[in-house]
Amino acid sequence: TQKENDLIVHLIDKLPENLTANFEAKVDAHKRLMTVNNHSATHLMHAALRQVLGNHVEQRGSLVNEKQLRFDFSHFAKLTGEEIKEIERIVNERIRANITLDAQTNVPIEKAKEMGAMALFGEKYGNFVRVITFDKNYSVELCGGTHTRATGQIGLFKIVSESSVAAGIRRIEAITAEASEQLVLSQEAILQEVKKVLKNPKDIVSAVQLVVEEKNKLTKQLEAFQKEQVKNLKAELKAKAVRGDGMTKIFAKVALPNAEALKQLAHDIKREEKGAFIIIAAEIAGKPQIAVAIDEDLVKSKNLNAGKIIRDLAKNINGGGGGQPFFATAGGSKISGLDAVILEADSLI
Ligand SMILES: [Zn+2]
Repeated sequence: TQKENDLIVHLIDKLPENLTANFEAKVDAHKRLMTVNNHSATHLMHAALRQVLGNHVEQRGSLVNEKQLRFDFSHFAKLTGEEIKEIERIVNERIRANITLDAQTNVPIEKAKEMGAMALFGEKYGNFVRVITFDKNYSVELCGGTHTRATGQIGLFKIVSESSVAAGIRRIEAITAEASEQLVLSQEAILQEVKKVLKNPKDIVSAVQLVVEEKNKLTKQLEAFQKEQVKNLKAELKAKAVRGDGMTKIFAKVALPNAEALKQLAHDIKREEKGAFIIIAAEIAGKPQIAVAIDEDLVKSKNLNAGKIIRDLAKNINGGGGGQPFFATAGGSKISGLDAVILEADSLI
């Protein structure tokens, strides 16, 4: 539906065959009812916004359909949780008050202004306007829309989102009637699901807190365990190191919990062993990874470059990587190539 030259134009998907026949237009009663609820709730919310946030609140845009209402307005800051709750509380209180609609048509614009009617930003009005009032001390607006006869039928009003549209303009999206009832039901269903997962505790919040605490405790234990594992692995690798010609060579495929541990292990051995030349390959979270660490003196004296070496080695795992001459890492996708990495490493020097 559009307005053109003061005429209401209904748009249709398909033109009828006989354009000169008589036609009957039918309003989808349910769709209209839901739209009326959302639109009327917009009036109530507009007044509540001014009450809670201040009289600087002005409408900057509005979209209403059978599913929801969207309202853009001037305000300088994100709404707090308390403000949103207070707006919802006021609107719902006004709905339960079941205020009767007072719609006055052909009101002279001057008189409408005297009534304190809120005009829409940027809208042009004629000399005579329609004034929509839900309690003359609460909401008086100029509006040509369609409204509920009494606010009670709007049902539960619920704000579902608050966001920024542009500098100084906020947007609220809200639902009413069936839609908010559906929301309550679906939230309740989620809560029941959570309860079931937690084996029906009396207090859900403490039960969830307990789970999170347990998880943190176990994570810490696991980290300590992994550290110990890396420490043992380091000792094992150092014991197996091939020493000679001013070098300590460690080329090995190992098991490690994460990429961080791989880096740490290579770094630690390099720091602790003189002339370290380390190539470690590991499967981490289902992906092959390699780390190459070379003692700085060795880099110079033997003209070695970890970044270059790793680029060649990474080909075995269908991957790539890089780094500095004394430290480099690579990841890939072919786990079966890890053994080939170590074989190639042995042939390097
Ligand atoms: Zn209206």
